[in-house]
Amino acid sequence: MMIRFAIVPLLFALNFSMCNRHETVSQNSQPSSTSSPTPAAPVAAASPKKTKPVVDQTAQVIIFCYHRLVDKIRYPGTEITPAAFEAQMKELKDHGITVIGMQDLLAWKRGEKNIPPRCAVITFDDGWKSQYEVAWPIMKKFEYPFTMFIYTEGVRGGSLGGGEAITWEQLADMRDNGVDIEAHTATHQDLREGHNIMLASPGGKRTRTKLTGPQYEQWVQSEVVGAKELLEQRLGIKVNCFAVPFGNYNEHVKELARNAGYEAMFTVYGQPITFTSALDSLGRYAIEANKPKVFEDAVKMIGASSAGGPAVAEVGAKDLATQPADGETVRTALPLIKANLSAIGQIEPGSVQMRVSGIGIVPASYDPKTGIVSYQVTQKLREKSCSVFVTAKSAGKKVEAHWTFGIEEGAAGGITSPAPTPKK
Ligand SMILES: [Zn+2]
Repeated sequence: MMIRFAIVPLLFALNFSMCNRHETVSQNSQPSSTSSPTPAAPVAAASPKKTKPVVDQTAQVIIFCYHRLVDKIRYPGTEITPAAFEAQMKELKDHGITVIGMQDLLAWKRGEKNIPPRCAVITFDDGWKSQYEVAWPIMKKFEYPFTMFIYTEGVRGGSLGGGEAITWEQLADMRDNGVDIEAHTATHQDLREGHNIMLASPGGKRTRTKLTGPQYEQWVQSEVVGAKELLEQRLGIKVNCFAVPFGNYNEHVKELARNAGYEAMFTVYGQPITFTSALDSLGRYAIEANKPKVFEDAVKMIGASSAGGPAVAEVGAKDLATQPADGETVRTALPLIKANLSAIGQIEPGSVQMRVSGIGIVPASYDPKTGIVSYQVTQKLREKSCSVFVTAKSAGKKVEAHWTFGIEEGAAGGITSPAPTPKK
């Protein structure tokens, strides 16, 4: 890790990737030639022309960014032990998160390919040989696809490629086996104009400097465009993703990347990726040995949404002809509470439950013939408003309705002011 030096540990802390912006909106909407009265939904299932598959627009993806895999952690900001890495890969599987390839993620964003509801994309930055020697065998074991973000001068033999660097031969081997290889600049530096950068001359001499004007433009061009071309030519591949070093970019850099043909750009500001996430700032979770919580939190971010418990369908109180009605004010603190569940459909016997604020679950009675659930309040309601929650199961799905009514002044047990509480 001689020459591949100290910059690297610094870098990642905020590194980004970027790729070019796609007109996802126009690409995702389909011309609807049906006579359907409803306007065409984007990616409409009903379209007679099957030009594109229907994609799940509610799917979510988390992208992880790893650096070196080492047994002894010396730079916890960019290193992880092989055991910890493998445990995380297993955890994804255990949580029902599907690891997909980068190109599948982009195809989904274009509306061209469906992906499972909860996915992860695994990326490795900078091109370390431990990614080839240690990470790859683990990924093979799980049959996970992944992406390598390479800065070209950091490949072995380059001005920044020391003994720990990956070689072009190793990259070619990965390419031949389906690994996605993408760009991460030439020299891994802050790409914004006016920042200190380091220039390495062919003789190995390094100078720190600030570039502006045409000199800067020439340099940033070689970083953003030149690196892409080099990877494409050297490996015979198409590069469409760009990870921006340090996460430091601006509109000018984005524009350069877009014009160069990058489809997506990546940052290290981790966040779940949704169908509408901007392609020029896709956040990745950078996993560091000293912050194991980042991984756990990322998994939770998409774990909470569609995983776990069964979906609850919300039913409007109006459809249930509730009594008292939503928003109504009654004159008694001992009301009869009723709702007609027949609008919901077939209710599973024994699944009906009613909760009343201030009381909790009440012994309501349910008549399967009429679909009516009712409860006569027997203890004076003490608040000026009362919320009722009715849940039931229908066709294996949990259905919930809730509404709120008011209790007139004087009627409530000791409360004075009246007020039908507006629906939340
Ligand atoms: Zn990097």
